[in-house]
Amino acid sequence: MSVQVVARIRPLLDKELDKDTIVRAEPSVEGQPANLVRIPNPKNEAEEFSFAFNSVYDMATSQEELYATEVAPHLKSLFKGLDVTIFAYGVTGTGKTHTMRGGLKLAERGVIPRLLSGIYRRGKKIRKDTNEETQVTVTLSYYEIYNDKVYDLFEIPEKRTLAGLRLCEKDGKTIVVNLSERPCADLKDFEKLYIEANNNRSTAGTKLNAESSRSHAVLMVKVIQTTGDSCLTSTASAIDLAGSEDNRRTENGKERMVESASINKSLFVLSQCIDAIGRGDKRIPYRESKMTRILSLGQNNGITIMILNLAPLRSYHLDTLSSLNVSSRAKRIEVREIENEVVFTQPPRKTGLSGTSISRQPLRP
Ligand code: ADP
Ligand code: MG
Repeated sequence: MSVQVVARIRPLLDKELDKDTIVRAEPSVEGQPANLVRIPNPKNEAEEFSFAFNSVYDMATSQEELYATEVAPHLKSLFKGLDVTIFAYGVTGTGKTHTMRGGLKLAERGVIPRLLSGIYRRGKKIRKDTNEETQVTVTLSYYEIYNDKVYDLFEIPEKRTLAGLRLCEKDGKTIVVNLSERPCADLKDFEKLYIEANNNRSTAGTKLNAESSRSHAVLMVKVIQTTGDSCLTSTASAIDLAGSEDNRRTENGKERMVESASINKSLFVLSQCIDAIGRGDKRIPYRESKMTRILSLGQNNGITIMILNLAPLRSYHLDTLSSLNVSSRAKRIEVREIENEVVFTQPPRKTGLSGTSISRQPLRP
């Protein structure tokens, strides 16, 4: 399966109602759901570019609709042992945080709280269906990557070292060393932890001069299903990337230069990885930034959904085009759908579970 790339056009904000909109969602076949984004050529407005995606959501799309069509269908796979990665990409102000985190009101809740809610509901059902034989445990980790350094958002800012946490590779996955993991029994627990950590994010911001739009935020939800002495673990990751705007065009002061360079670099490396994978290169430059190492597009097993957030305004024209270009190339990336293996807390008995043989497919056929 390839990376699913979906585009979402945000509505105009109250203060923008008099502004010109230049981005449209359209179906390529009449009567079908929209899958094209159309935008004028900035050099010749009589001409239009169109970019095709797996699906395109227009301004009227609700949080519920986006979650129900793009994310909820993958819960089943998550519980079968596949890792699921959802990341929001786009220029600052296009709706990444709105899409991932959303507002506090029920209808405004974003992908992340809905995902957690879905996980708990499914966990409960599995417990019930197995007569409590299978137990489902959920843990959370949450960190940000800022200036190519990893900071644990469950640690209070005072306890963090400026150098950040190290990455290492284990079983083909990139792991953040010493990242804390919090048990999270229900949605109430989640909301408390999540709000606390997001506050840490803004506090850290003052200390480190970061703004949320300048760091990548990674939430990892580990789902552990235990049946007797066997255990199946899979992870859902939800990532709110830093703004993809071209910082050379925005007027950044000197103090922002280091930040800008590293944001530009990680997002630039991401686009290079996308291109290298698309070309079928042997060497993909994942290791050139922490964000791309962690994201490991096309390398991580499971399901990857890229949400491209777009603002319909003319003032975003060039940045919108550049993010459309990057993300439309990401569609071609193939992802291996390999389930995580069942592990045994004790050596398996001869009569034990036999669901461990999993065929490995090559990355590229
Ligand atoms: P980003 O995280 O990409 O910088 P935000 O999520 O902060 O962007 O969105 C910018 C503004 O637009 C916020 O005020 C947000 O509430 C609003 N917004 C974004 N998407 C939507 C949407 N689909 N519906 C309503 N308001 C939205
Ligand atoms: Mg944001």
